[in-house]
Amino acid sequence: MRERIPAIIKWIYPRRIWDGPAGEKVLYLTFDDGPVPQVTPWVLEQLGKYNAKATFFCIGENVERYPEIFRQVIKEGHVVGNHTYSHLNGWKTSVEEYIQNSLQARETMENELPQGTEFKNPLFRPPYGRIKNVQAKRLQQEGFRIVMWSIVSRDYDRTLSPEKCLQNVLNNVRPGSIIVFHDSFKAEKNMKKILPEVLKHYKNSGFCFKGLK
Ligand SMILES: [Zn+2]
Repeated sequence: MRERIPAIIKWIYPRRIWDGPAGEKVLYLTFDDGPVPQVTPWVLEQLGKYNAKATFFCIGENVERYPEIFRQVIKEGHVVGNHTYSHLNGWKTSVEEYIQNSLQARETMENELPQGTEFKNPLFRPPYGRIKNVQAKRLQQEGFRIVMWSIVSRDYDRTLSPEKCLQNVLNNVRPGSIIVFHDSFKAEKNMKKILPEVLKHYKNSGFCFKGLK
């Protein structure tokens, strides 16, 4: 998988979100596959140190298992999005099953929201970035906005060193970039090394970090 998404791909899928607005020095950090107790609270702590906001694309199963952490993410001012209930690969899943699974994740998340809050921006990110056109269309009809990314840190790739992952990010960031990290066991080792570096580097360069709207 390429670290930076080629322009042609963005042109082919104009209705998917690939970047934030490019006008300001803002980065959009995103964390997929949580919430999990061994990783997500650590991420929240790092973000808190820099007053950074981010977007967490949660797996429904994990929200059901760890609703307290899910609520903590929201209470700390971050945005949450849908990453299906059981991390389905859209290319290998029927349209009906994919939609049902994603709606099940939405229902789980709605049931676990902190009291007095509601979903304002139903965001959806397909696991593995793999989604059929017809699945994407159906989700858009359900009101979801499909969020892809500008840059993949490849933190989940255990054959890569943390230094290489960090370079992937530093070499490719532009104002408005949407960057993928994972708050998961698989990515933990690399992510825990590179996230503090990314926060420090871009804070010092005058960037701020926001959740997706
Ligand atoms: Zn994922």
